[in-house]
Amino acid sequence: MTIDYIAPGSSLGVLGGGQLGRMFAQAAQEAGYQVHVLEPDAHAPAAQVTATHLRAAYDDTDALHALARAAAAVTLEFENVPASALEWLDAHVQLAPHAPAVAVCQDRAAEKALFTRLGVPCAPHAVIACEQDARDPRQASLLPGILKTARMGYDGKGQVGVRTLAELAEAWNALGGVTCVLEQRLVLRLELSVVLARGRDGRIVHYPPQQNLHRGGILFASFAPGAELDEATVCRAIDAAHAIAQGLEYVGVLCVEFFVLGDGSLVANEMAPRPHNSGHHTIDSCDQSQFDLQVRALVGAPLIEPRQHSAAVMLNLLGELWFDAGGRLREPDWQAVLALPGAHLHLYGKREPRPGRKMGHLTFTAQQADEARARALRACAALG
Ligand code: ADP
Ligand code: MG
Repeated sequence: MTIDYIAPGSSLGVLGGGQLGRMFAQAAQEAGYQVHVLEPDAHAPAAQVTATHLRAAYDDTDALHALARAAAAVTLEFENVPASALEWLDAHVQLAPHAPAVAVCQDRAAEKALFTRLGVPCAPHAVIACEQDARDPRQASLLPGILKTARMGYDGKGQVGVRTLAELAEAWNALGGVTCVLEQRLVLRLELSVVLARGRDGRIVHYPPQQNLHRGGILFASFAPGAELDEATVCRAIDAAHAIAQGLEYVGVLCVEFFVLGDGSLVANEMAPRPHNSGHHTIDSCDQSQFDLQVRALVGAPLIEPRQHSAAVMLNLLGELWFDAGGRLREPDWQAVLALPGAHLHLYGKREPRPGRKMGHLTFTAQQADEARARALRACAALG
């Protein structure tokens, strides 16, 4: 198999113009590439920093043709691109990750089927595809549970907690009667994720797993390293993530989220076919960021095991920070945050703050993990 290397000076394309597309573009530009973004929103974070903004829907035929003509290779920052668009790109330009791998990541039911096929444990679950499934008394064994739409969910959206069979039928209707996955609600000791990159030659490199703290279904903070992550759990998570990347013949950056349960067992939750919010600390804590690896995997450059040189804590900056107690718009106190040692402030250029909207992130690096944690705590106090 010949692996074509795409040299600096070439153009790369990215589907989606959010913060992940912006940070990909910045890494690609640093490595000498021009970036074209396909994104419907005029003011999207990536559109502000890229050479060309194709402002169109992801399945706009003219825009896809233009992207394939302009870019030597295309990646994505957003997995919910219509399958037809991904399949077309896969046939006409170097696309990484490939369309079939993305298709699995678009669908919780397909994801869980893959985990099961590969022998990676996941939460007890059932696919709820019709009214009859929603009313099937056998689902009682999964209650209390969480009903999640199979597609398009993110940041806890498209999920409803259900305690009884009656609530299940009601929740399924409330979610629009679309195909869902009912998962048993597990008691989580902690959450972690593995970010890896796999090249066209099959080589895989990964970061040490980070421990993740969610609030209201949205990532609140990531700890690298996590204080409660033991060596055996870390090894199991890395092995499982490698098996998943291999099983998918994946090319690009992949993130796999895991739960650790009360008895110490490890359960795969979901995966993302792209850099992940929990890997943002790598920009400041590692010699290569997850976006650098996305560029390398895309252009066929060598993948070198990344080295973490600093401990880090990453805090998400959500839109609510832009409002005072009275609900009035305000600018967060960046001066106080930037006065703390090891602070790395990243803002995404989004115009309108809204509660739950990811406006930026803030990473604290330090020599020791507890020092990074103490700084992050001070920042939380300063931001109010
Ligand atoms: P999203 O696509 O919105 O990230 P997730 O499936 O990752 O959806 O769920 C978001 C968060 O909700 C998880 O990180 C975890 O904290 C919690 N959660 C999800 N599924 C379960 C479950 N089966 N049991 C307990 N908590 C869960
Ligand atoms: Mg998740």
